[in-house]
Amino acid sequence: MKRRSIFWFRRDLRLADNPALLAAIAEGDEVLPLFIVDENIAARAGEHRRAYLAGSLKALNASLQGNLHVISGDPVTVLHELVGRHQISSIHVSADFAPYGVHRDRNVEASGLSLIRTGSPYAVAPGRVRKSDDTPYRVYTPFFRAWTTHGWRLPVAAPSTFNLISPGKGDQTIPNWSLSNGPLLQDVGEAAALERWKLFQESGLKNYDTTRDLPGVDGTSRLSAHLRWGEIHPRTLLAALSNSPAHEVFRKEIAWREFYADVLHHNPHTSRDYYVSRFAKMRYDQPEEKFRAWCEGKTGFPFVDAAMRQLVQTGWMHNRARMVVASFLVKDLHLEWQHGANFFMKYLIDNDVASNSHGWQWTAGCGTDASPYYRIFNPIEQGKRFDPAGDYIREFVPELHHLSAKQIHEPWLEVDGYKFGYPVRIVDHSIERLESLARLAEIKAVEAS
Ligand SMILES: Cc1cc2nc3c(=O)[nH]c(=O)nc-3n(C[C@H](O)[C@H](O)[C@H](O)COP(=O)(O)OP(=O)(O)OC[C@H]3O[C@@H](n4cnc5c(N)ncnc54)[C@H](O)[C@@H]3O)c2cc1C
Repeated sequence: MKRRSIFWFRRDLRLADNPALLAAIAEGDEVLPLFIVDENIAARAGEHRRAYLAGSLKALNASLQGNLHVISGDPVTVLHELVGRHQISSIHVSADFAPYGVHRDRNVEASGLSLIRTGSPYAVAPGRVRKSDDTPYRVYTPFFRAWTTHGWRLPVAAPSTFNLISPGKGDQTIPNWSLSNGPLLQDVGEAAALERWKLFQESGLKNYDTTRDLPGVDGTSRLSAHLRWGEIHPRTLLAALSNSPAHEVFRKEIAWREFYADVLHHNPHTSRDYYVSRFAKMRYDQPEEKFRAWCEGKTGFPFVDAAMRQLVQTGWMHNRARMVVASFLVKDLHLEWQHGANFFMKYLIDNDVASNSHGWQWTAGCGTDASPYYRIFNPIEQGKRFDPAGDYIREFVPELHHLSAKQIHEPWLEVDGYKFGYPVRIVDHSIERLESLARLAEIKAVEAS
């Protein structure tokens, strides 16, 4: 009798460098490749995210010669039905470390099915790198050193051929999600990820250390969504890096992703709650009109508005801009970081709970290794420094495109600054900065009393 295994794709929508898929192939004479669409998650996702996933599933299905099973429903029900129908002997996965995935997998195992885990979406699985006293790292730099010393495996090749179980009627319902206003700006799928990585190696990577902070320049890899969906594995990227300064900085960014996954693994509550709990006691405002202005890119601060419009229009935002809008939400609007993080999770095509929640908390001053709370980004100076020619602002804020590089960051100083309807500032940064520090002093005073 033929032995059959399921390979359950989750955050690893690729064939190359996929040890878990190789394990499924090694164990089964035939493999049933499966993706389960979770309608609960899909309902919360913005259209960019949904369109990205649908495109990625189509690409994966093409690489599997049309044999990808795509079924909507509860994983426990779907898996039991397939196991019974096809006399499946094993289910293979790459381990998921995010709280939602851990919970989902526990439910599957509690229902009597076993999952065979091989590898993870990380070069080093969360939980592996520990301090000499066996406790987890709380600070990035020593984590980075230990992570580098620990090292990682080399990439493995894609399987040459393997026998696939074809989907029956109703077993392949790839969602028909698309964007209402044109195609995604980014190509999706494993081939697109490898192509983007190749292009970046030939162009931006050598100057990454100097251009990565400039949102108006195509100076970063734009691989985050490919990594989030596992269309490429970080091992593949790390294997190609040398010790040049630019490559070292890029390796450090990959390590931030690994660090945050490790921190979330040890502190699952921090996907929604404060890492440094004292900040939960701070006085915050309610998300009302000012929050709406932030979401819509109408705060009257050009760099902040360009960034928020980039997010909503394209499903992605540059890292420097993410830090500035996050700081603005927490320190200028006095809102809790979770409001911003939820908005990001809805729109980002690279939405990743570990990088997102901890990127927010780092900027808000309540996370790991945080820049001290009193270091507050000035949204105007950040724009002048990181978008000196104003190209980024001009791209996303057409109401300001008539202004020169010198004028564009402070339209309120120009007689014609508002002639195309750009909104006036919703707050005064210098006043809100002091207000933020006053609220910090309040929690300190309570702690001291
Ligand atoms: C408030 C905030 C929210 C964020 N939310 C997310 C998120 O949901 N998903 C996400 O993938 N990244 C998130 N980041 C991190 C970072 O902004 C993005 O990874 C980066 O902008 C993606 O663009 P890129 O692929 O061109 O990055 P590159 O600069 O080319 O970096 C290469 C890769 O390294 C990783 N990386 C780079 N910077 C960081 C970082 N600061 N933290 C963690 N990983 C990093 C990413 O996987 C990225 O693709 C967030 C950062 C902040 C400040």
